[in-house]
Amino acid sequence: MAFELPSLGYAYDALEPNIDARTMEIHHSKHHQGYTNNLNNAIAGTDLDGKSIEDILTNLDMSNGAVRNNGGGYYNHSLFWTVMNPEDRGYLSGELKDAIEAAYGSKDEFIAAFSKAAATRFGSGWAWLCVHKGGKVEICSTPNQDNPLMPGVSCGGTPILGLDVWEHAYYLNYQNRRPDYINAFFNVVNWNEVERRYAEAK
Ligand code: MN
Repeated sequence: MAFELPSLGYAYDALEPNIDARTMEIHHSKHHQGYTNNLNNAIAGTDLDGKSIEDILTNLDMSNGAVRNNGGGYYNHSLFWTVMNPEDRGYLSGELKDAIEAAYGSKDEFIAAFSKAAATRFGSGWAWLCVHKGGKVEICSTPNQDNPLMPGVSCGGTPILGLDVWEHAYYLNYQNRRPDYINAFFNVVNWNEVERRYAEAK
């Protein structure tokens, strides 16, 4: 069964002015659709066909560039859309708040550390908040479409918050001002979803 492009769950203009509608439309309908199509082509007729994306990434042969790039791209964007929300975002609370404060001291210090990881990722890639078994959280970043679920990649936890820092994610509106895009992202983070993912993965 082929992977399908997931719905955003909100309109392309719903995150304005933080993320503009044109960027969202191209990012979702062109970039994410492209990763989805290329992933399906890469696994068709192989023993990966029919497996979950988490299973594929966790057990990935890292030398398989087509599945690494497009499976990562499929998974990463599928997570990214869910951790933003134009409304009903909730706030950092509960066990996730405790874990973030244990690791980083405060929400503000966490945001500063995450923003630094996103700003200093050279070239294209992602910043992540990951959770390890037992509940400890850790910020890391990956190049290209790599993901911490992949063998030997970065901090090796389960990602629960991700930020795309490829230029295609922000260039139309922010040009080279990646830090402004990172700040804007934190205006639309869906803490309810991050907390749900934390509880599921810890
Ligand atoms: Mn992207």
